[in-house]
Amino acid sequence: MNSSVQNNINDILTGIKDICIKQGRDYNDVTLVAVSKTVEVEKIKEVADAGIENVGENKVQEILEKYDELKDVLNIHMIGHLQRNKVKYIIDKVALIHSVDSIRLLKEINRRAAQLELIVDVLIQVNVADEETKYGIKIDEVNSFLKNSAGFDNVSIKGLMTIAPFTDNKEDVRQVFRALKKKFDEISALSYCNVEMKYLSMGMTGDYPIALEEGANMLRIGTKIFGSRTYNK
Ligand SMILES: *Cc1c(COP(=O)(O)O)cnc(C)c1O
Repeated sequence: MNSSVQNNINDILTGIKDICIKQGRDYNDVTLVAVSKTVEVEKIKEVADAGIENVGENKVQEILEKYDELKDVLNIHMIGHLQRNKVKYIIDKVALIHSVDSIRLLKEINRRAAQLELIVDVLIQVNVADEETKYGIKIDEVNSFLKNSAGFDNVSIKGLMTIAPFTDNKEDVRQVFRALKKKFDEISALSYCNVEMKYLSMGMTGDYPIALEEGANMLRIGTKIFGSRTYNK
């Protein structure tokens, strides 16, 4: 039986394949993270049935509520703003933290990871367009941030993440993705301690084809998989 979730995922994967073929890229290098915030566990499990391995959540509380039921079938990614005092709750439950936006947060992740003898994979969130409403470090500060991360041996920085501005101007969105890809490539050519530029996490329901065209290899898609979110509260 085909669920709508499965159909939506198939549509997305077909689109990803088409773009990769056009660009001569290997489609298998692209990771789709199904963003499951506000979605019930039973429905989230449908993505696993459709062959997806990764889901993204943006709230610590929600990860804790869903963890026991999801942990055996899906890797959970933390994609939302993370407060330092909540690191301890999820540090051993998430596969990747996309939203490291300060050295203080990185330091706390490192400290908690060391206590549990873990190496935790993280991405640095970059506020490319320097929007006041968004978290993330400035693109000009990425290199110094990575330099300052050198002593944190219980974190492994695996790449960069951004959220594009909410605008209908596709060209503006494209420029943001292009700028981050350029930074990603620049850093890839340098060698910082505990840093490996493996994942470029950018692109959501409204802009993922553009992100992919500009070099994203990790897409975070919610609405197009699960439908519109309903927030109670
Ligand atoms: C909600 C969310 C997404 C997915 O957004 P959609 O538009 O529903 O695809 C991606 N990234 C982050 C950080 C989010 O919070």
